[in-house]
Amino acid sequence: MRVRSLAVPVTVLAAGLVWSGLRAAATPATPLEKRIKALSDKLAPELIDIRRDIHAHPELGLQETRTSAIVADYFRKLGLEVRTGYAKTGVLGILKGGKPGPVVAMRGDMDALPITEETDLPFASRDKTLLDGRETGLMHACGHDIHTALLLGVAGVLSAVKADLPGTVVFVAQPAEECCGGADMMIRDGAFKDIVPAAFFSYHVDDRLKAGRIGYTPGSMTANVDGFKLEVLSEGCHGASPDLCVDPIVVGAQIVTALQVMISREIGVYDNTVITVGSFHAGTAPNIIPRSAKLEATVRTHGEAQRRVLRDKITRLVTNICEAAGAPFQLDYGLGTGSVFNDPGLVGRALTVAERVLGSKTALVEQKPEMGGEDFSYFGRIAPAVMFNLGVVPPDRESTAVHSPTFVADEAAIPIGVNLMANILLDHQMKRAKGAGAGS
Ligand SMILES: [Zn+2]
Ligand SMILES: [Zn+2]
Repeated sequence: MRVRSLAVPVTVLAAGLVWSGLRAAATPATPLEKRIKALSDKLAPELIDIRRDIHAHPELGLQETRTSAIVADYFRKLGLEVRTGYAKTGVLGILKGGKPGPVVAMRGDMDALPITEETDLPFASRDKTLLDGRETGLMHACGHDIHTALLLGVAGVLSAVKADLPGTVVFVAQPAEECCGGADMMIRDGAFKDIVPAAFFSYHVDDRLKAGRIGYTPGSMTANVDGFKLEVLSEGCHGASPDLCVDPIVVGAQIVTALQVMISREIGVYDNTVITVGSFHAGTAPNIIPRSAKLEATVRTHGEAQRRVLRDKITRLVTNICEAAGAPFQLDYGLGTGSVFNDPGLVGRALTVAERVLGSKTALVEQKPEMGGEDFSYFGRIAPAVMFNLGVVPPDRESTAVHSPTFVADEAAIPIGVNLMANILLDHQMKRAKGAGAGS
Protein backbone atom coordinates (compact mmCIF):
# COMPACT_ATOMS: atom_id res chain seq x y z
CA MET A 1 0.00 0.00 0.00
CA ARG A 2 1.81 3.12 1.18
CA VAL A 3 1.24 6.71 0.11
CA ARG A 4 3.54 9.62 -0.42
CA SER A 5 3.98 11.67 2.70
CA LEU A 6 5.01 15.29 2.93
CA ALA A 7 8.10 14.10 4.74
CA VAL A 8 11.14 16.22 4.04
CA PRO A 9 14.17 13.98 3.92
CA VAL A 10 17.09 15.05 6.03
CA THR A 11 20.51 13.53 5.68
CA VAL A 12 21.88 11.11 8.17
CA LEU A 13 24.22 13.84 9.33
CA ALA A 14 21.26 15.69 10.80
CA ALA A 15 20.32 12.57 12.70
CA GLY A 16 23.83 12.03 13.97
CA LEU A 17 23.00 13.12 17.48
CA VAL A 18 20.14 10.66 17.69
CA TRP A 19 22.23 7.77 16.52
CA SER A 20 25.61 8.58 17.97
CA GLY A 21 25.08 6.06 20.73
CA LEU A 22 24.07 3.30 18.35
CA ARG A 23 26.46 3.60 15.45
CA ALA A 24 30.12 2.83 15.34
CA ALA A 25 32.43 4.76 13.02
CA ALA A 26 32.37 3.34 9.49
CA THR A 27 35.25 1.05 8.58
CA PRO A 28 36.28 -0.14 5.11
CA ALA A 29 34.35 -3.03 3.57
CA THR A 30 35.67 -6.49 4.50
CA PRO A 31 36.75 -9.03 1.84
CA LEU A 32 33.43 -10.87 2.31
CA GLU A 33 31.50 -7.63 1.85
CA LYS A 34 33.46 -6.92 -1.32
CA ARG A 35 32.60 -10.40 -2.57
CA ILE A 36 28.92 -9.81 -1.91
CA LYS A 37 29.08 -6.56 -3.87
CA ALA A 38 30.66 -8.39 -6.84
CA LEU A 39 28.04 -11.16 -6.65
CA SER A 40 25.24 -8.59 -6.54
CA ASP A 41 26.55 -6.85 -9.65
CA LYS A 42 27.01 -10.17 -11.46
CA LEU A 43 23.44 -11.26 -10.69
CA ALA A 44 21.92 -7.94 -11.75
CA PRO A 45 21.21 -8.73 -15.45
CA GLU A 46 19.41 -11.97 -14.54
CA LEU A 47 17.39 -10.25 -11.80
CA ILE A 48 16.44 -7.42 -14.18
CA ASP A 49 15.21 -10.01 -16.73
CA ILE A 50 13.09 -11.68 -14.05
CA ARG A 51 11.76 -8.34 -12.84
CA ARG A 52 10.74 -7.35 -16.39
CA ASP A 53 9.00 -10.68 -16.88
CA ILE A 54 7.07 -10.24 -13.62
CA HIS A 55 6.33 -6.60 -14.51
CA ALA A 56 4.86 -7.64 -17.87
CA HIS A 57 2.60 -10.21 -16.16
CA PRO A 58 1.21 -8.62 -12.99
CA GLU A 59 -1.13 -10.58 -10.73
CA LEU A 60 -3.59 -9.30 -8.13
CA GLY A 61 -3.45 -10.36 -4.49
CA LEU A 62 -4.03 -14.08 -3.80
CA GLN A 63 -3.79 -14.74 -7.56
CA GLU A 64 0.02 -14.58 -7.85
CA THR A 65 0.32 -18.16 -9.11
CA ARG A 66 2.70 -17.37 -11.99
CA THR A 67 4.94 -15.11 -9.87
CA SER A 68 4.88 -17.57 -7.00
CA ALA A 69 5.98 -20.39 -9.31
CA ILE A 70 8.90 -18.29 -10.60
CA VAL A 71 9.97 -17.61 -7.01
CA ALA A 72 9.66 -21.24 -5.87
CA ASP A 73 11.53 -22.44 -8.96
CA TYR A 74 14.35 -19.96 -8.37
CA PHE A 75 14.66 -20.97 -4.72
CA ARG A 76 14.74 -24.67 -5.69
CA LYS A 77 17.52 -24.07 -8.20
CA LEU A 78 19.53 -22.39 -5.44
CA GLY A 79 19.09 -25.49 -3.30
CA LEU A 80 16.84 -23.83 -0.71
CA GLU A 81 14.17 -25.75 1.14
CA VAL A 82 10.92 -24.50 -0.40
CA ARG A 83 7.56 -24.38 1.37
CA THR A 84 4.44 -23.24 -0.46
CA GLY A 85 0.73 -22.70 0.04
CA TYR A 86 0.71 -20.01 2.74
CA ALA A 87 -2.05 -17.48 1.98
CA LYS A 88 -2.66 -19.42 -1.25
CA THR A 89 0.43 -18.26 -3.18
CA GLY A 90 2.97 -17.42 -0.45
CA VAL A 91 6.38 -19.10 -0.59
CA LEU A 92 9.15 -19.62 1.95
CA GLY A 93 12.71 -20.29 0.81
CA ILE A 94 14.89 -21.55 3.65
CA LEU A 95 18.66 -21.16 3.36
CA LYS A 96 20.79 -22.96 5.93
CA GLY A 97 24.21 -21.42 6.48
CA GLY A 98 27.43 -23.32 7.08
CA LYS A 99 27.81 -22.11 10.67
CA PRO A 100 25.53 -22.24 13.70
CA GLY A 101 23.40 -19.21 14.37
CA PRO A 102 19.87 -17.84 14.68
CA VAL A 103 17.06 -17.51 12.15
CA VAL A 104 16.45 -14.25 10.29
CA ALA A 105 13.89 -13.38 7.61
CA MET A 106 13.63 -11.14 4.56
CA ARG A 107 10.22 -10.37 3.12
CA GLY A 108 9.27 -9.36 -0.42
CA ASP A 109 5.67 -8.89 -1.55
CA MET A 110 4.49 -10.06 -4.98
CA ASP A 111 1.08 -8.58 -5.79
CA ALA A 112 0.12 -5.93 -8.34
CA LEU A 113 -2.68 -3.36 -8.68
CA PRO A 114 -5.80 -2.98 -10.88
CA ILE A 115 -4.32 -0.03 -12.80
CA THR A 116 -3.92 0.30 -16.58
CA GLU A 117 -0.24 0.98 -17.23
CA GLU A 118 0.59 4.13 -19.20
CA THR A 119 4.39 3.96 -19.29
CA ASP A 120 6.51 3.73 -22.42
CA LEU A 121 8.53 0.78 -21.09
CA PRO A 122 9.13 -2.03 -23.61
CA PHE A 123 8.01 -4.52 -20.95
CA ALA A 124 4.95 -2.52 -19.87
CA SER A 125 1.99 -4.65 -18.80
CA ARG A 126 -0.79 -5.12 -21.33
CA ASP A 127 -2.65 -7.65 -19.17
CA LYS A 128 -6.27 -7.08 -18.27
CA THR A 129 -8.79 -8.62 -15.90
CA LEU A 130 -12.39 -8.27 -14.84
CA LEU A 131 -12.91 -6.68 -11.45
CA ASP A 132 -16.50 -6.41 -10.17
CA GLY A 133 -17.68 -6.90 -13.74
CA ARG A 134 -15.52 -4.13 -15.18
CA GLU A 135 -12.41 -4.57 -17.31
CA THR A 136 -9.23 -3.09 -15.85
CA GLY A 137 -5.56 -3.20 -16.68
CA LEU A 138 -3.04 -4.73 -14.27
CA MET A 139 0.19 -3.05 -13.25
CA HIS A 140 3.08 -3.36 -10.84
CA ALA A 141 2.56 0.27 -9.82
CA CYS A 142 3.83 -0.20 -6.25
CA GLY A 143 7.18 -1.79 -7.13
CA HIS A 144 6.40 -5.25 -5.78
CA ASP A 145 8.04 -6.68 -8.93
CA ILE A 146 11.25 -5.01 -7.73
CA HIS A 147 10.69 -6.37 -4.21
CA THR A 148 10.37 -9.91 -5.61
CA ALA A 149 13.56 -9.50 -7.66
CA LEU A 150 15.39 -8.22 -4.57
CA LEU A 151 14.25 -11.24 -2.58
CA LEU A 152 15.58 -13.62 -5.25
CA GLY A 153 18.80 -11.63 -5.55
CA VAL A 154 19.59 -11.71 -1.83
CA ALA A 155 18.79 -15.44 -1.79
CA GLY A 156 21.18 -15.93 -4.71
CA VAL A 157 24.01 -13.93 -3.16
CA LEU A 158 23.75 -15.47 0.30
CA SER A 159 23.53 -18.96 -1.22
CA ALA A 160 26.87 -18.28 -2.90
CA VAL A 161 28.50 -17.40 0.44
CA LYS A 162 26.56 -19.81 2.62
CA ALA A 163 29.73 -21.42 3.99
CA ASP A 164 30.36 -18.11 5.77
CA LEU A 165 26.73 -17.61 6.80
CA PRO A 166 25.79 -18.34 10.41
CA GLY A 167 22.30 -19.69 11.03
CA THR A 168 19.31 -19.72 8.71
CA VAL A 169 17.75 -17.13 6.42
CA VAL A 170 14.05 -17.43 5.57
CA PHE A 171 13.03 -15.67 2.35
CA VAL A 172 9.36 -14.76 2.55
CA ALA A 173 7.53 -14.19 -0.75
CA GLN A 174 4.27 -12.66 0.43
CA PRO A 175 1.00 -12.37 -1.51
CA ALA A 176 -1.73 -9.78 -1.27
CA GLU A 177 -0.14 -6.82 0.49
CA GLU A 178 -2.40 -4.37 -1.34
CA CYS A 179 -5.77 -5.99 -0.90
CA CYS A 180 -6.15 -8.64 1.68
CA GLY A 181 -3.61 -8.70 4.50
CA GLY A 182 -1.38 -11.37 2.98
CA ALA A 183 1.18 -11.07 5.79
CA ASP A 184 -1.42 -11.86 8.44
CA MET A 185 -2.77 -14.72 6.32
CA MET A 186 0.69 -16.28 5.95
CA ILE A 187 1.21 -16.14 9.71
CA ARG A 188 -2.25 -17.64 10.34
CA ASP A 189 -1.46 -20.39 7.85
CA GLY A 190 1.47 -21.40 10.04
CA ALA A 191 4.39 -20.06 8.00
CA PHE A 192 6.41 -19.39 11.16
CA LYS A 193 5.04 -22.12 13.35
CA ASP A 194 8.18 -24.22 13.44
CA ILE A 195 10.75 -21.72 12.18
CA VAL A 196 10.65 -18.47 14.11
CA PRO A 197 12.90 -15.65 12.88
CA ALA A 198 14.66 -13.47 15.46
CA ALA A 199 14.21 -10.47 13.13
CA PHE A 200 12.46 -9.50 9.89
CA PHE A 201 13.88 -7.18 7.23
CA SER A 202 12.22 -5.72 4.15
CA TYR A 203 12.36 -3.02 1.50
CA HIS A 204 9.78 -0.83 -0.11
CA VAL A 205 10.58 1.15 -3.23
CA ASP A 206 10.55 4.91 -2.63
CA ASP A 207 9.17 7.25 -5.28
CA ARG A 208 10.82 10.31 -3.70
CA LEU A 209 14.43 9.12 -3.61
CA LYS A 210 16.80 8.76 -6.55
CA ALA A 211 18.14 5.27 -7.22
CA GLY A 212 21.17 4.66 -5.01
CA ARG A 213 19.66 6.32 -1.95
CA ILE A 214 18.24 4.46 1.03
CA GLY A 215 15.54 5.90 3.28
CA TYR A 216 15.08 4.93 6.90
CA THR A 217 12.69 5.85 9.70
CA PRO A 218 13.52 4.72 13.22
CA GLY A 219 10.40 3.82 15.25
CA SER A 220 6.93 4.22 13.75
CA MET A 221 7.21 4.27 9.97
CA THR A 222 3.71 3.72 8.61
CA ALA A 223 0.30 4.38 10.13
CA ASN A 224 -2.32 2.22 11.78
CA VAL A 225 -5.04 1.89 9.15
CA ASP A 226 -8.32 1.89 11.09
CA GLY A 227 -11.74 3.23 10.19
CA PHE A 228 -15.45 3.18 10.72
CA LYS A 229 -18.80 2.89 8.99
CA LEU A 230 -21.63 4.96 10.43
CA GLU A 231 -25.31 5.00 9.55
CA VAL A 232 -27.39 7.82 11.01
CA LEU A 233 -31.09 6.86 10.98
CA SER A 234 -34.38 8.75 10.77
CA GLU A 235 -38.07 8.09 10.19
CA GLY A 236 -37.88 10.36 7.17
CA CYS A 237 -40.28 13.22 6.38
CA HIS A 238 -41.10 16.06 3.94
CA GLY A 239 -38.27 18.50 3.31
CA ALA A 240 -40.68 21.37 4.00
CA SER A 241 -41.44 20.06 7.52
CA PRO A 242 -38.01 19.33 9.05
CA ASP A 243 -39.45 19.54 12.57
CA LEU A 244 -41.28 16.23 12.01
CA CYS A 245 -38.16 14.00 11.82
CA VAL A 246 -34.45 13.87 12.46
CA ASP A 247 -32.41 15.12 9.50
CA PRO A 248 -29.62 12.52 9.16
CA ILE A 249 -27.76 14.68 6.62
CA VAL A 250 -27.43 17.54 9.09
CA VAL A 251 -26.39 15.14 11.88
CA GLY A 252 -23.85 13.48 9.58
CA ALA A 253 -22.47 16.86 8.53
CA GLN A 254 -22.10 17.89 12.20
CA ILE A 255 -20.14 14.69 12.83
CA VAL A 256 -17.80 15.31 9.87
CA THR A 257 -17.03 18.82 11.11
CA ALA A 258 -16.76 17.80 14.77
CA LEU A 259 -14.20 15.11 13.89
CA GLN A 260 -11.89 17.70 12.34
CA VAL A 261 -12.34 20.04 15.33
CA MET A 262 -11.54 17.12 17.62
CA ILE A 263 -8.24 16.53 15.77
CA SER A 264 -7.17 20.15 16.21
CA ARG A 265 -8.36 20.57 19.83
CA GLU A 266 -7.97 17.16 21.46
CA ILE A 267 -4.98 15.54 19.74
CA GLY A 268 -1.40 16.53 20.54
CA VAL A 269 0.30 18.47 17.77
CA TYR A 270 3.06 15.85 17.49
CA ASP A 271 0.67 12.87 17.49
CA ASN A 272 0.27 12.33 13.74
CA THR A 273 -3.43 11.72 13.24
CA VAL A 274 -5.70 11.84 10.18
CA ILE A 275 -9.45 11.29 9.94
CA THR A 276 -10.87 11.41 6.43
CA VAL A 277 -14.57 10.83 5.85
CA GLY A 278 -14.16 9.70 2.27
CA SER A 279 -17.72 8.57 1.65
CA PHE A 280 -21.03 10.26 2.59
CA HIS A 281 -24.22 9.05 0.92
CA ALA A 282 -27.79 10.16 1.66
CA GLY A 283 -31.01 11.21 0.02
CA THR A 284 -32.77 10.97 -3.33
CA ALA A 285 -34.55 14.30 -3.85
CA PRO A 286 -34.30 17.92 -2.64
CA ASN A 287 -37.65 17.90 -0.85
CA ILE A 288 -37.28 14.60 1.05
CA ILE A 289 -35.45 14.22 4.35
CA PRO A 290 -34.05 10.72 3.92
CA ARG A 291 -34.29 7.79 6.29
CA SER A 292 -30.54 7.40 6.60
CA ALA A 293 -27.12 8.86 5.93
CA LYS A 294 -24.14 6.55 5.50
CA LEU A 295 -20.60 7.69 6.21
CA GLU A 296 -17.28 5.85 5.87
CA ALA A 297 -13.98 7.10 7.21
CA THR A 298 -10.34 6.11 7.43
CA VAL A 299 -8.51 6.86 10.68
CA ARG A 300 -4.70 6.99 10.64
CA THR A 301 -2.48 7.11 13.72
CA HIS A 302 0.91 5.92 14.94
CA GLY A 303 1.39 3.61 17.92
CA GLU A 304 -0.94 1.13 19.60
CA ALA A 305 -2.07 3.50 22.36
CA GLN A 306 -3.09 6.29 19.98
CA ARG A 307 -5.33 4.10 17.82
CA ARG A 308 -7.38 3.16 20.89
CA VAL A 309 -7.52 6.80 22.02
CA LEU A 310 -9.01 7.72 18.61
CA ARG A 311 -11.48 4.85 18.69
CA ASP A 312 -12.74 5.98 22.11
CA LYS A 313 -12.93 9.67 21.15
CA ILE A 314 -14.75 8.99 17.86
CA THR A 315 -17.21 6.64 19.55
CA ARG A 316 -17.92 9.26 22.23
CA LEU A 317 -18.32 12.06 19.70
CA VAL A 318 -20.65 10.11 17.38
CA THR A 319 -22.74 8.83 20.29
CA ASN A 320 -23.18 12.28 21.85
CA ILE A 321 -24.01 14.12 18.61
CA CYS A 322 -26.55 11.48 17.59
CA GLU A 323 -28.12 11.40 21.05
CA ALA A 324 -28.32 15.20 21.15
CA ALA A 325 -30.24 15.09 17.85
CA GLY A 326 -32.36 12.12 18.89
CA ALA A 327 -31.01 10.10 15.98
CA PRO A 328 -30.64 6.33 16.19
CA PHE A 329 -27.33 5.20 14.69
CA GLN A 330 -25.18 2.18 13.89
CA LEU A 331 -21.41 2.60 14.31
CA ASP A 332 -19.00 -0.13 13.20
CA TYR A 333 -15.44 0.71 14.17
CA GLY A 334 -12.65 -1.50 12.87
CA LEU A 335 -8.97 -1.76 13.84
CA GLY A 336 -7.11 -2.72 10.67
CA THR A 337 -3.43 -3.11 9.78
CA GLY A 338 -1.14 -1.81 12.50
CA SER A 339 1.73 0.58 11.96
CA VAL A 340 5.19 -0.66 10.97
CA PHE A 341 7.56 -0.09 13.89
CA ASN A 342 11.21 -0.12 12.90
CA ASP A 343 13.26 -1.48 15.78
CA PRO A 344 15.77 1.30 16.64
CA GLY A 345 18.54 -1.16 17.57
CA LEU A 346 18.26 -3.00 14.25
CA VAL A 347 18.10 0.28 12.32
CA GLY A 348 21.23 1.63 14.03
CA ARG A 349 23.20 -1.53 13.34
CA ALA A 350 22.06 -1.69 9.73
CA LEU A 351 23.02 1.95 9.15
CA THR A 352 26.57 1.18 10.20
CA VAL A 353 26.65 -1.67 7.67
CA ALA A 354 25.06 0.57 5.03
CA GLU A 355 27.67 3.30 5.45
CA ARG A 356 30.40 0.72 4.97
CA VAL A 357 29.02 -1.17 1.98
CA LEU A 358 27.54 1.83 0.16
CA GLY A 359 30.81 3.69 0.68
CA SER A 360 29.09 6.90 1.73
CA LYS A 361 26.66 7.94 4.43
CA THR A 362 25.23 10.63 2.17
CA ALA A 363 23.27 7.84 0.44
CA LEU A 364 21.29 7.40 3.67
CA VAL A 365 18.27 9.62 4.17
CA GLU A 366 16.28 9.83 7.37
CA GLN A 367 12.56 10.20 6.66
CA LYS A 368 9.57 11.24 8.70
CA PRO A 369 6.83 8.70 9.46
CA GLU A 370 4.20 8.21 6.76
CA MET A 371 0.41 8.04 7.06
CA GLY A 372 0.08 5.18 4.55
CA GLY A 373 -0.24 1.56 5.65
CA GLU A 374 1.90 -1.58 5.17
CA ASP A 375 1.07 -5.07 6.35
CA PHE A 376 4.76 -5.80 7.00
CA SER A 377 3.71 -4.69 10.50
CA TYR A 378 2.27 -8.18 11.14
CA PHE A 379 5.78 -9.68 11.00
CA GLY A 380 6.84 -7.12 13.61
CA ARG A 381 4.47 -8.83 16.05
CA ILE A 382 6.59 -11.98 15.82
CA ALA A 383 10.02 -10.37 16.18
CA PRO A 384 11.77 -6.98 15.86
CA ALA A 385 11.50 -5.76 12.28
CA VAL A 386 12.83 -3.09 9.95
CA MET A 387 11.64 -1.83 6.57
CA PHE A 388 13.98 0.34 4.55
CA ASN A 389 12.99 2.51 1.61
CA LEU A 390 14.90 1.91 -1.61
CA GLY A 391 15.18 4.92 -3.90
CA VAL A 392 14.04 4.09 -7.44
CA VAL A 393 13.61 7.47 -9.12
CA PRO A 394 15.56 7.34 -12.41
CA PRO A 395 18.27 10.00 -12.77
CA ASP A 396 16.80 11.39 -15.97
CA ARG A 397 13.11 11.45 -15.00
CA GLU A 398 10.85 13.37 -12.67
CA SER A 399 9.61 11.22 -9.82
CA THR A 400 6.27 9.55 -10.48
CA ALA A 401 4.06 8.39 -7.65
CA VAL A 402 3.54 4.76 -6.74
CA HIS A 403 -0.04 3.65 -7.50
CA SER A 404 -0.06 5.91 -10.57
CA PRO A 405 -0.28 4.52 -14.15
CA THR A 406 2.98 6.27 -15.05
CA PHE A 407 5.11 4.94 -12.18
CA VAL A 408 8.61 3.99 -13.37
CA ALA A 409 11.34 2.44 -11.20
CA ASP A 410 15.04 2.57 -12.01
CA GLU A 411 16.40 -0.99 -12.14
CA ALA A 412 19.85 0.31 -11.14
CA ALA A 413 18.45 0.13 -7.61
CA ILE A 414 18.26 -3.68 -7.76
CA PRO A 415 21.96 -4.57 -7.31
CA ILE A 416 22.31 -1.77 -4.75
CA GLY A 417 19.41 -3.16 -2.74
CA VAL A 418 20.63 -6.75 -3.04
CA ASN A 419 24.16 -5.83 -1.93
CA LEU A 420 22.94 -3.86 1.06
CA MET A 421 20.35 -6.36 2.29
CA ALA A 422 22.67 -9.36 1.88
CA ASN A 423 25.22 -7.54 4.03
CA ILE A 424 22.65 -6.44 6.61
CA LEU A 425 21.41 -10.03 7.02
CA LEU A 426 24.94 -11.43 7.18
CA ASP A 427 25.96 -8.83 9.76
CA HIS A 428 22.86 -9.58 11.83
CA GLN A 429 23.63 -13.29 11.80
CA MET A 430 27.31 -12.86 12.64
CA LYS A 431 26.56 -10.53 15.52
CA ARG A 432 23.79 -12.74 16.93
CA ALA A 433 25.87 -15.90 16.51
CA LYS A 434 28.74 -14.28 18.41
CA GLY A 435 26.34 -13.02 21.10
CA ALA A 436 25.01 -16.55 21.55
CA GLY A 437 28.48 -18.05 21.72
CA ALA A 438 28.18 -19.31 18.14
CA GLY A 439 26.50 -22.39 19.47
CA SER A 440 22.74 -21.85 19.36
ZN1 LIG B 1 1.01 -0.11 -2.79
ZN1 LIG C 1 3.67 -1.55 -1.84
